[in-house]
Amino acid sequence: MGSQEVSSTVDWQGKHVTVAGLGVSGIPAARALHERGALVTVVNDGDDERARAQAAELEALGITVRLGDGATLPPSTELVVTAPGWRPDKPLFLAAAEAGVPVWGDVELAWRLRGTGGREPAPWLAVTGTNGKTTTVRMLASILEAAGLRTAAVGNIGVSLLDAVLGETEYDVLAVELSSYQLHWAPSLRAHSAAVLNLAPDHLDWHGSMAAYAADKGRVYEGNKVACVYNAADPATEDLVREADVEEGCRAIGFTLGAPGPSQLGVVDGILVDRAFVANRQKQAQELAEVTDVNPPAPHNIANALAAAALARAFGVEPAAVRDGLRAFRPDAHRIEHVADIDEVRYVDDSKATNTHATEASLAAYDSIVWIAGGLAKGATFDELVTGAAKRLRGVVLIGADRALIREALTRHAPEVPVVDLDRTDTGAMSEAVARAAELARPGDTVLLAPACASMDMFTNYNKRGEAFADAVRARADESA
Ligand code: ADP
Repeated sequence: MGSQEVSSTVDWQGKHVTVAGLGVSGIPAARALHERGALVTVVNDGDDERARAQAAELEALGITVRLGDGATLPPSTELVVTAPGWRPDKPLFLAAAEAGVPVWGDVELAWRLRGTGGREPAPWLAVTGTNGKTTTVRMLASILEAAGLRTAAVGNIGVSLLDAVLGETEYDVLAVELSSYQLHWAPSLRAHSAAVLNLAPDHLDWHGSMAAYAADKGRVYEGNKVACVYNAADPATEDLVREADVEEGCRAIGFTLGAPGPSQLGVVDGILVDRAFVANRQKQAQELAEVTDVNPPAPHNIANALAAAALARAFGVEPAAVRDGLRAFRPDAHRIEHVADIDEVRYVDDSKATNTHATEASLAAYDSIVWIAGGLAKGATFDELVTGAAKRLRGVVLIGADRALIREALTRHAPEVPVVDLDRTDTGAMSEAVARAAELARPGDTVLLAPACASMDMFTNYNKRGEAFADAVRARADESA
């Protein structure tokens, strides 16, 4: 069975499908394929208590599960469906390639299964990029809702893709967040329109190189029908549009924080304007919303709003719905979240800034900052980040395992900025970080948690890190009230 024959119209009855990975995408995939008559074997590296419990549930349905060996391809396999995070150089995939067996990720499976319930499949508006995906997809869903369309934000957030295409609810259009891993395993995806928000080095250990990472992101444009939306400030995203093979008539649409040229969306005098989806783009521009309609109106977030607006406009949404949707949008927790003001100092939680590219954006949003940073650096360097922000730093409080890397960059590029180095990782560490930051701050400053690092050295995840910060800030606010 070649990849072409396994289509949505395929009779799954009796097909031997290997699902790689028990987990958030693997379990629903195994169930969906089993329900369609496929002979499903799930293979999984881990063999712990949780995996055994999950395996027992699937086995009760008649699905075969092999724990403790995710490397060997079952001999009769005709198709592999993989969890998106599995690295492409795993022996299982090498064996599949050798045997001519196609490999699909969760997105490819959802794409191929859409429309199988006899309904007209909803078109996808897709968003990828190194940072800003979740925010943009949720802004987009909010705009589409404001336009009266039946929609959902799907992908890593909210509804799972498989549920969205196979569930009871009918949609007019889906706002889909796609990671580079998911795109890697989604060769036949063809979105209505798609956006690449930005491209900075991330996950290079998985993809093997920056070129391979970019190429996987670029797949989101393949076969687009109406618009390929790129970031005019990030030429790499425009290059990807140029390289993509799209449908006849599909347009390249840029977004910019400056005044837009023809076929762009941009900003003029505090107004978000559209010079792409208007009758005469040489002469005309359409007002969409005000910068203050974007929540929060930080530069990178205005870029996200423009990208969301471009996709919505490509789908035919009216300008008023763009404005209403942006106004109704509330950011997710831990993404530049305003926690409290204490003694004229603003406290902001951007725990989700887990890499330097994200932190650069949030540092750019404030004039005078006490920066709380550190954690697991994942191989990153901090020189560029520190150089760019040096002038706006009132002080820095460093936490976590790799804090020395940031301290050294500060010594090199911002030696005059006071640095507090916290040498503790216990549960009280964040409280002390906040207390020390408060000492450094002056009225009008912002204390910003934007760690530029992963959190797992001290916390379960970035949510817990953000909660620890917010709890410490609120405790201080209560004290000072
Ligand atoms: P993703 O889903 O791509 O991880 P999120 O919307 O969850 O993106 O935002 C993650 C972090 O990236 C946020 O905490 C914010 O600091 C930063 N960020 C959001 N949008 C952008 C952008 N357009 N450019 C750079 N950084 C951004």
